[in-house]
Amino acid sequence: DTPVLKKPDWIRVKAPMGAEFAKTQKIMTEGNLTTVCEEAGCPNIGECWTKKHATMMIMGDTCTRACAFCNVRTGKPNPLDADEPRRVGLAVAEMGLEHVVITSVDRDDLEDGGAAHFAETIRSIREQAPNATIEILTPDFLRKGDVANIVIDAKPDVFNHNLETVPRLYLSIRPGSRYYHSLKLLDQVKQRDPNQFTKSGIMVGLGETKEEVMQVMDDMRSAGIDFLTIGQYLQPTRKHAAIDRFVTPEEFKTYETIARSKGFLMVSASPLTRSSYHAGEDFAQLREA
Ligand code: SF4
Ligand code: SF4
Repeated sequence: DTPVLKKPDWIRVKAPMGAEFAKTQKIMTEGNLTTVCEEAGCPNIGECWTKKHATMMIMGDTCTRACAFCNVRTGKPNPLDADEPRRVGLAVAEMGLEHVVITSVDRDDLEDGGAAHFAETIRSIREQAPNATIEILTPDFLRKGDVANIVIDAKPDVFNHNLETVPRLYLSIRPGSRYYHSLKLLDQVKQRDPNQFTKSGIMVGLGETKEEVMQVMDDMRSAGIDFLTIGQYLQPTRKHAAIDRFVTPEEFKTYETIARSKGFLMVSASPLTRSSYHAGEDFAQLREA
């Protein structure tokens, strides 16, 4: 067990409520769908669901990796549900989402890491909810060859893959992953389809230094990454990595200013920023610009 730091005032969680929240929950339950909002215990769930914005997690609720910051259960996953892409598309249509985020657990057990299933889900959403813009938040497809191309070629609007933390902390925080592999994946997206927006994010408060964060920003820009998210790490349970410290709202502002000067098209840096937080609104603004 690790000691739990007391949450400062700027980390406030609003209780889920309201009719829209209940409706979202009903559509998810009926479609037998998993949301990362619930699985990860996201602090923004009340706000996001009330606005009919949710992040769906495909390919089951059991992950083959065990990252030290993540609350998703680890183990041997069930076989893929071939009907899932259809139900995801239907749920997006029923909820009338303008922007949907689709993510997944890691499926190192599958030969293609789930790439074809991701692509099929994108196609199903396009078919059933043609006006929705689609953001995907993918696994790293480590040791799976070129399979990411299958996903890239299904043409999501935003291809997101999180670096999660600075390279020095990978061994303790993200032991099953490789920093430069993840960076290369995002570079591969830009090389293959320059029209796709690429996005990545990190959590802070894990023990990284400001210099290390700035280096990650430079690495991301070298790989052509367009959008950046930086949020406070919150320890999901006492068994997870301990919080090193709470980064202050002022420090987040500084990160945001620095990131903008480095040329990111979109930056979200705040204590409650999550990979998918306000993704729809930000993206709509960008398209209007
Ligand atoms: Fe769900 Fe993302 Fe909103 Fe959190 S920020 S509640 S994961 S949509
Ligand atoms: Fe969680 Fe993703 Fe790591 Fe799996 S790979 S444990 S879902 S962060």
